[in-house]
Amino acid sequence: MGTPYYIPETNIPLPPVNADIITTACDYCIVACGYKVYRWPLKGGAQGGPNADENAFGVDFPVDPLGAWVAPNQYNVVSHNNEPHHIIVVPDKDTSVVNTNGDSSVRGGAIAQKVYNPQTPTRDRLKSPMIRMFGTLMPVSWDFALDIAAEVGSHVIKKHGANAYAMKMFSYGFMENTYAVSKFALRHISTANFTFHDTPSDVTSTPGFRDAGFDNFGPSYQDWHDADTLMICGTDPYETKTILFTQWIMPAIQNGQKTIFLGPRRTAGIAYAEQNGGLWIDLQPGTDLPVVSAIARVIVENGWEDKEWIKKWVNNKFESSSGFGQGTRNTPWQWRTTWGKFHTKDYDDWKKWLLAQDFSDPQTAADIAQIDVQKSTLPLSG
Ligand code: SF4
Repeated sequence: MGTPYYIPETNIPLPPVNADIITTACDYCIVACGYKVYRWPLKGGAQGGPNADENAFGVDFPVDPLGAWVAPNQYNVVSHNNEPHHIIVVPDKDTSVVNTNGDSSVRGGAIAQKVYNPQTPTRDRLKSPMIRMFGTLMPVSWDFALDIAAEVGSHVIKKHGANAYAMKMFSYGFMENTYAVSKFALRHISTANFTFHDTPSDVTSTPGFRDAGFDNFGPSYQDWHDADTLMICGTDPYETKTILFTQWIMPAIQNGQKTIFLGPRRTAGIAYAEQNGGLWIDLQPGTDLPVVSAIARVIVENGWEDKEWIKKWVNNKFESSSGFGQGTRNTPWQWRTTWGKFHTKDYDDWKKWLLAQDFSDPQTAADIAQIDVQKSTLPLSG
């Protein structure tokens, strides 16, 4: 086997004026930055030129560093209508939301590279279903694979019932991606043994939030930007949601937002926040719960909570139980029953529960999380 080596591309063609222009969104993370795809056929050898009236960007080249410059990683050759086509995939500088100035992370910035091209490392992509036969995975036709899946499925349902047919699917991305699979499971198989993403059943992954009446996906990127104080537990959005951090949170930090990170590693985003007046609570992995509970306890013991806001927005007992707001009356299967079975009934009941927990005692929480309590008493600078 030869030694792998990498010869970088140094030249790519500019899209001609008549290239197809398709808007799309990056599918690498939930931020969903806007992108534009420029596509035109290899056949005929058309290419854009350096003058504004010769290329699809409508700009004169060379451009300034943040102009309509295209990196080799943003170019590929793909098959469209069985004909090879050039594609250029670049962040959309015309979006009015999300990546509003046309920025991207390094992941999204190279999205063109993941489109199938038999000349590139994407050549190892599966092009047909695989079935293990005689101990070896073998490519088979879709008809053959679907026949087997249907026969096995029918056998399982007939012998053991619909709930023996379990379905676990991904989530996020786009509704179009999840619609067919969920319709198949819920309408045609009719199994309760169905769920998405990270949940054990078709329920919320943040039941406490839902019981309190909040939609956990409620905040907009503008809210992340506008918050006076932002607490981020167990993640660094600079790593996981880069544009949300660089375009929305970083400018807020520069304008005085206090950012508190709970996390075991001093990641780049945490280091940035620390250097700009933020606080890092460096806890042991998996100990966020007692630390957040202890912070909440200090707030409620001192009466620092926003009473008006809680009265207006947090569910009371009736609202939670009856499914007002985001109660669990919408649970398709009684993973958790509703009436009278909630962990807490309303804000006052939650407060009583919180104060009764050993782990919400600040010193106990600090011992569990192995954090320096003195650090958390330092005033946030700036
Ligand atoms: S932050 Fe990066 S990975 Fe996420 S959607 Fe935007 S470009 Fe894609």
